[in-house]
Amino acid sequence: MIRLRRRGVKPPADWQGTVDAALPDAAAFWRKARAFEKLAEQGAKRKKGFASYAPEVLPADEKGKPDLPPVWRTDARVRQAIAGMSNGFCAYCQSPVSSNHPGTSGEDRPPGQVEHFRPKARFPAQAYEWKNYFLACMACNGAKHDRWPAGGYVRPDEGRPGRRFVFAEDGGIEAREGDEQARCTVEDFGLKRYWLTQHRGTAIQCHLDFVRRLMGHPGIQLQDVLMTRPVAFSEAINQNVRRVWASGRRKRKKASRARPRRAR
Ligand SMILES: [Zn+2]
Repeated sequence: MIRLRRRGVKPPADWQGTVDAALPDAAAFWRKARAFEKLAEQGAKRKKGFASYAPEVLPADEKGKPDLPPVWRTDARVRQAIAGMSNGFCAYCQSPVSSNHPGTSGEDRPPGQVEHFRPKARFPAQAYEWKNYFLACMACNGAKHDRWPAGGYVRPDEGRPGRRFVFAEDGGIEAREGDEQARCTVEDFGLKRYWLTQHRGTAIQCHLDFVRRLMGHPGIQLQDVLMTRPVAFSEAINQNVRRVWASGRRKRKKASRARPRRAR
């Protein structure tokens, strides 16, 4: 996970009107949605979802079931903005979403899924807030679904999210000790899934091969071998580069201390 900058990612002026036009009775929807969010966050009613609580304020989906109108999906401006914000990568696993989803319309309709950070079934009053949207791959979005643990998850657009996870050279991932939000993020988004781990491990090891060849050469600094652009798995790669670099330095220092001093 790399830090995403939300600067400039703002809803267009007509956004609220677009959302309200998709609802049968916008005033009734917002009233009910706000009342629903006042219920106990981990209570049974909240967990059952907004569609069971107030089906009368929702339009029917294609299967005839009451559901929130998916304006975040039908209005391409949402995906354009959040795909730009995360450079076409899944905001959670840093896989290149743009290349593994079917998408035929280029920049105008970027592939990937609009993930509601706070799930829409449990936070319907935030279902149309742009701050609640991140671009996600199908695997992360599907794994998390409507889950929301008591403390929530690590937000990709706050603080230094990458430092809250530890990436091993083989692609493994763990939450930093004692970080409950990070632990829930790893578990619920399925960040340990097999092929994701394999791809992440290969990306790390390929880059480390290159770093190890350069280490110890005069004039080569750590900054020269870090990933400076947001590419797939760059956070996981850079963490490993820093670790290998630091251990190489320690070894070189030890070796130079062990060498006998030349007589003056
Ligand atoms: Zn993902």
